[in-house]
Amino acid sequence: MLKEFIQLIYPDFCSGCNQPLLFSERAVCSSCLMEVKSSFASDSNTFFGRYSVNREIYAFKFFKNKLLQKMIYEMKYNGNKDTAFVLGIELGFLVQNVCKSKNQDFDFIIPVPVSEIKKQARGYNQSEYIANGISQVIKRPVLKNRLKRRNNLRSQVNKSRYNRWSNVDEQYYLARNFNGINKILLVDDVVTTGATINSCIRALQTINNLEISIAALAGNK
Ligand SMILES: [Zn+2]
Repeated sequence: MLKEFIQLIYPDFCSGCNQPLLFSERAVCSSCLMEVKSSFASDSNTFFGRYSVNREIYAFKFFKNKLLQKMIYEMKYNGNKDTAFVLGIELGFLVQNVCKSKNQDFDFIIPVPVSEIKKQARGYNQSEYIANGISQVIKRPVLKNRLKRRNNLRSQVNKSRYNRWSNVDEQYYLARNFNGINKILLVDDVVTTGATINSCIRALQTINNLEISIAALAGNK
């Protein structure tokens, strides 16, 4: 009742088409959700840069999907957490199907971290909300603050090319031990060059026998 009253004064808008949402809708209207869901979803078992990963699961094709690009912009830069969560649920259904068909499971879901400075500026980490959406579907817990990202390192302007690369690789680190964790699902919003995932995997590779899978709302494959 109160929610409906508030929505009459301040209606929520779809992060895709900007139209007012129905009371039954959350963050994304049903027609925008149908449209992004109709875009291709992929699942592969492949090498990720230098590292082998168990599975890569992408929910949508990003680069030709203007609607999805708009939604991702809203979640990244306009603080729209609900969009991250709602699209995370869609990704969760895809992950669930892949798990079933490949007889795969995970102990934990780990969101790609942002630095504390960025998290404070933005108010939240969108990958955490995507991970929460996946968790809602596959019923596996989200582990935060194990894999962390350093606050920005000193200016890279004067560094050689080699040092810049090694700088990137050292951005992520393990803040706590991973004892008893064998299979993780690493979650990012969008995978483009793969540099971020590569750096995360580099930090995670120090753990013995850890099986890493990747899930993202969109990728360029
Ligand atoms: Zn819409």
